[in-house]
Amino acid sequence: MNTDETKTEFYEDPEEKKEYLDQSFRDSVATIDKKGSRNYIFPKKPKGRLYRWRTIVSVFYLAVFFTLPFLKVNEEPLFMFNVLKRKFIFFGQVFWPQDFFIFAIGLLTFIMFIILFTVVFGRVFCGWACPQTIFMEMVFRKIEYWLDGDMNEQRRLKEMPWNSYKIRKRAIKMAVFFAISFLIANFFLAYIIGMDSVLAMVKEGIAANSGTFISLLGFTAVFFFVYYWFREQVCIVVCPYGRLQGVLLDKKSIVVAYDYVRGEPRGKVKKNEPMENLHGDCIDCFACVRVCPTGIDIRNGTQLECVNCTACIDACDDIMDKVHKPRGLIRFESEENIAHSKKSKFNWRIAGYSTVLTLLIGVLAFLIITRDDVDARILRTAGQMFQTDQNGRVINLYNIKLANKTHKDIPMTLRLENIKGEITVVGNDLTVPKESYFQATFFVKIDRQLITRRKTAVVMGIYQGDKKIKTIHTTFLGPGY
Ligand code: SF4
Ligand code: SF4
Repeated sequence: MNTDETKTEFYEDPEEKKEYLDQSFRDSVATIDKKGSRNYIFPKKPKGRLYRWRTIVSVFYLAVFFTLPFLKVNEEPLFMFNVLKRKFIFFGQVFWPQDFFIFAIGLLTFIMFIILFTVVFGRVFCGWACPQTIFMEMVFRKIEYWLDGDMNEQRRLKEMPWNSYKIRKRAIKMAVFFAISFLIANFFLAYIIGMDSVLAMVKEGIAANSGTFISLLGFTAVFFFVYYWFREQVCIVVCPYGRLQGVLLDKKSIVVAYDYVRGEPRGKVKKNEPMENLHGDCIDCFACVRVCPTGIDIRNGTQLECVNCTACIDACDDIMDKVHKPRGLIRFESEENIAHSKKSKFNWRIAGYSTVLTLLIGVLAFLIITRDDVDARILRTAGQMFQTDQNGRVINLYNIKLANKTHKDIPMTLRLENIKGEITVVGNDLTVPKESYFQATFFVKIDRQLITRRKTAVVMGIYQGDKKIKTIHTTFLGPGY
């Protein structure tokens, strides 16, 4: 940790020493003041190389988010998570509750992925790919800068008494934030029930869909509350991933970190002072603190509140350029490397963890690709013994349950694979409608002389045309000898 008593020898000025030894950040949150009230953060508008990259990533991300609900495969959405109907579509493939094991493996993979990824690369997901951060920092915050100005103007606006100017400003911001929240809620709904259903409801009007409209307003209110007021509190207080950082990160994890070896002892640049003789590279300008959306000082070390947004890296690089020092006083680096003044390299640990991550994703992809389109279960009808017909054949009655996971009706036939006999479906039709369950009853008739035991193992094939799509093993009851 950079706040080490032994380093205070560098500080001759008692005030600087006191500030350096101030450990209050350890038991307080930047967004809560001493009285326990919300300390509203007004981060300075970030700029710089990484912020430009984040903007590019976000534009791509948002384009994907708003385009996906319109994409279809075989007239079905590419992605849909209909929890109400228990129907889930990933990359055009329909998943049903029977596929729960894939879902469980997917969830485990996801958790493993998050853990391994975080252990190696820290919380970079939060700052660069989490929808909360993307919408907050790259949509709502940008609009806020545009409407209310930068940090100081925003603070002035907050502190000024309620007059017509402030009311107008606040009303415009609320209206814009509410409209965007409503748009996001509509797309959120489209991911649940499909864009076609959403558009159909829009056509039918509010009166015909009052229940859905109220839910939509509920979602809108949640988004509005989060982006207008709650903001970084989601990452600090609510998000379970954020809360897990303490146990996931270690000294080798690559995180946004301040190079205290190079930066300390920090000190302001005084006029005509040859600073390299007196200080480390940190000129204590607080530029890194001012841009931080969670209000922390990264120089205090890795903290729970840091979402790895990298705004402080840009801010500090800009300062380093101005004072003619090398960039990277704040950078993506591990605590261990900083302590030994080394730079991160691709090492065995990163390679090993990345391989495990790739394997996990490979297993999941294999399970999804090789998943059966049809699920079938054949059971002898409960409580039924065998019968014999006038030709001396032994008859068993069976139930078949089929689930068609595809987007088209599948006409199926049943064949006996390991024994000669006849199958008669009650109702004669075994067409399973698309994306649904189907149940039927059928008789299996086998010549008496082929049944030599009380229980004969039979293998049945379920065919679509000439293509076998499933093999089922069951038993056939007979009189035996
Ligand atoms: S400390 Fe830096 S990376 Fe972390 S949240 Fe603040 S600005 Fe973003
Ligand atoms: S921006 Fe860089 S130089 Fe300025 S206070 Fe932060 S770490 Fe120090």
